[in-house]
Amino acid sequence: MTADQLTMSSTKSWPAHDTATWRTVQDYSTPIDPGRVSSLLAVEWDRFRSTTPASAEHHARAQRSLPLGVPSSFQHWDPHPIAVQSARGAWVTDVDGRSVLDMSMGFGAMLVGHLNPVVVDHVSRMLHETGTLFVTPAPISTEAAERVQRRFHLDLVRFTNSGTEATMYAVRTARAATGRKAIIKIEGGYHGGYDPLTVSVKPALDEAGPANAPISVVQGDTEPGVVYVVPYNDLDRLEQVLRLHASEVAALIMEPVLENLAIIVPDAGYLQGVREACDRHGVLLIFDEVKTGLTAGYGGASERVGVEPDLRTLAKSIGGGLPVAAFGGKASIMQTVVDGRMAHYGTYNGNPLAMAAVIAVDEVCTREALAAAEQRNDRAMSRMDAVIREFELPAHTVGFGVKGAVTWSPTPVRNYRDFKKVDFAMAELSWLWWLNRNILTPPGMDDQWLVSLAHTNEDMDLLVTGIRELAVALRA
Ligand code: PMP
Repeated sequence: MTADQLTMSSTKSWPAHDTATWRTVQDYSTPIDPGRVSSLLAVEWDRFRSTTPASAEHHARAQRSLPLGVPSSFQHWDPHPIAVQSARGAWVTDVDGRSVLDMSMGFGAMLVGHLNPVVVDHVSRMLHETGTLFVTPAPISTEAAERVQRRFHLDLVRFTNSGTEATMYAVRTARAATGRKAIIKIEGGYHGGYDPLTVSVKPALDEAGPANAPISVVQGDTEPGVVYVVPYNDLDRLEQVLRLHASEVAALIMEPVLENLAIIVPDAGYLQGVREACDRHGVLLIFDEVKTGLTAGYGGASERVGVEPDLRTLAKSIGGGLPVAAFGGKASIMQTVVDGRMAHYGTYNGNPLAMAAVIAVDEVCTREALAAAEQRNDRAMSRMDAVIREFELPAHTVGFGVKGAVTWSPTPVRNYRDFKKVDFAMAELSWLWWLNRNILTPPGMDDQWLVSLAHTNEDMDLLVTGIRELAVALRA
């Protein structure tokens, strides 16, 4: 290695990040030979094909009934995704009979582990003794609401069945409360399938305008209304947009820590600045905690970063794998549900199966249990940092609570435009490398791993060993 091969990043010209989050950027890195990455990718894809024949066969069958052969499009990858037969704790068994360490864990929904015994016990009681749906008020839904209300500091809360519904109703609640229609969202931010929230999720850069003043890019099949997009970690642009448009804007909706672009952590003071800007301009602030939620800590991301939004959405981690979500917040705003300005109906809302799971998860996710899982995550990330340092990989670790990711960039990724500069060939290779060594991290280059209550340090060491072996292969 010669001096000019070193990428110096020791000048550290970027802002500090929020101390509630993890980001370790190394001082030096050495570029990786793209030819080496391509040849390793070719070898690994051959290996994938040859070790997953039953998944290939399953995919052929599934394509005859399901578009792309999957129930949800993000589950697809070429040539075929692995099909899972069963799961327990931190492990899944695929149709080829391989035992695979699940680091994806339902994008965070399986925080308490697959078939967590407390969840199974509570849900079984509903199935065997209580009932699965009443469409009436029931003590079980009230108890679940009381627990969510207490833990997440919500004056009032309503349950829904998916994160998409929760964010849709949160936006509609904000509109009803303010009498305004427009919304502001973060460029690159994902919040599910409600029309306004599909704007500029992963816009093509040639359509997205300048980095410091992005244009709203509308997906062809949607009718979103007026949606302004702003870059994450940019208070100046937010202020400009608010100054121009606040009188028509109901709310700013955002993930406090972006968890749909791997993990992008907030600059120190950014979220406090967002709260102040919204207050100054009379615009409501919605934190979409569908992904952060319990994975961020006992009271979710808001408690962790010390910023209280007006409304919050929750899903995934609160439900132990059952389809359940929630939206809630300040009484004055949720009053729109009480007086009917925001119509919220839904046959399955608060169904006993999901409510039993919410109660079980609340019982299991003590501060101590979550802190212990976070320690296992921090330990693994420190070990990965050591590998990144030793092999001078152009990568860094990011994390929040029990989630983490290796981002293939030698410098911090602070917004969508930075994210687009990540080395996606390396991201694909590291994902595939782990997969071929029986470790499943989420498909797509925009997610992160989850350390569930069921993962052990030994499990996490497999992840670290995987990346070490990859580093050896890259530098061979
Ligand atoms: N908001 C965020 C931040 C999400 O990550 C997601 C899904 N990944 C959603 C909303 C939509 O949730 P669902 O898939 O349950 O509809």
